[in-house]
Amino acid sequence: MTTTVLGAGYAGVMASNRLAGRGEEVVLVTPNPYFVERIRLHRVATGLRENARLDLGTVLNSAVEVIQDTATKIGDDKLQLASGENLPYDTLLYAVGSGASAQNGTYRIVSEHETERLRTALADAPDAPVTVVGAGLTGVELAGALREAGRAVKLISTAPDRRAIQAHLRFLAKQGVEIEVGRVDPAEIEGLVVDTTGFTVPSLAADSGLPVDEFGRLLVDEQLTVKGHPNILGAGDAVHLEAPAYLRAACATALPMGAHAADVITARREGQAGEAFRMGYVLQCTDLGSGRGRVQFLHPDDTERAIAIDGRAGGLVKETICRMTVRWLTQERDRAGRYSWPAGA
Ligand SMILES: Cc1cc2nc3c(=O)[nH]c(=O)nc-3n(C[C@H](O)[C@H](O)[C@H](O)COP(=O)(O)OP(=O)(O)OC[C@H]3O[C@@H](n4cnc5c(N)ncnc54)[C@H](O)[C@@H]3O)c2cc1C
Repeated sequence: MTTTVLGAGYAGVMASNRLAGRGEEVVLVTPNPYFVERIRLHRVATGLRENARLDLGTVLNSAVEVIQDTATKIGDDKLQLASGENLPYDTLLYAVGSGASAQNGTYRIVSEHETERLRTALADAPDAPVTVVGAGLTGVELAGALREAGRAVKLISTAPDRRAIQAHLRFLAKQGVEIEVGRVDPAEIEGLVVDTTGFTVPSLAADSGLPVDEFGRLLVDEQLTVKGHPNILGAGDAVHLEAPAYLRAACATALPMGAHAADVITARREGQAGEAFRMGYVLQCTDLGSGRGRVQFLHPDDTERAIAIDGRAGGLVKETICRMTVRWLTQERDRAGRYSWPAGA
């Protein structure tokens, strides 16, 4: 029996390694022969880092068969690929992640392609000030990296409710970022504008007639399985699981989901149902540029604890966690089942 994994991101590589290490035949379909560390893209956009690519061979179990292609439609037992091939599957893991296209002349950094667009625009206009819209993790990390690169930056966002975001904004203001609180339409702002509000997911699940939520995310149950399609599972940003309700799009979510999807597939091969997916959060780490960061401690349900680490120490912990995300993948490549994660709330 073969498991076909769609997408070589955090969820797809983690699941492939866990399954291949347990002797399962795994086929990984990916448009690119490399893994993109998406959590580094703000530094690539600003020219502080050359790229965020890792050769797939450095993170993936060598027993996994890699097909370089893009799935265009999911059928009951086969995939249509952009090359025109049909690829049969026994079990499918949908792990196509997220991204969003720039609209109305604005820029985004959700994908490598969009990041390169912004990088080119910044290089073409080295003195142009930049407006960043949105003070989520992506917006504040980008604003910090832009300041580190010596840019004039304005950050516009609605009033932040989380303490961590309020702290990020205070720090960025001290670094010279102009902060404006308000709701704006990024398309109506003049100049070089980066829109970091929200994201979209590929329309593949919806185009294939699979059940999706209002954002087009594949709906999965607690065993990360699509209702009415027991041979299709999903993990990562591209899926929506109703419970636990506090899950957010993050590599901190995609990694455990990928590992758990592999566990469910293994359990089914052994005649068991597979356990319900549970996870809790521990930290949210932010890179604020110039080696500074913030590590916000969390309750398992993603609400904030009173403790945080700021400044250079925060920056060091953030960098360590970024490196760990790749290490968790390589450790799983070398010993299936090694990766574990905190239990749910
Ligand atoms: C600038 C930035 C900073 C971030 N910082 C953090 C952070 O600090 N902490 C954190 O937890 N999260 C962070 N995130 C979010 C994190 O990167 C995502 O949540 C994570 O990448 C999701 O993993 P995934 O495996 O679901 O998808 P991805 O990593 O996006 O991988 C999806 C893969 O699917 C492939 N694919 C897409 N369509 C198809 C198709 N039709 N056929 C085959 N393959 C396909 C793509 O090429 C891609 O390789 C950040 C994101 C950005 C952009």
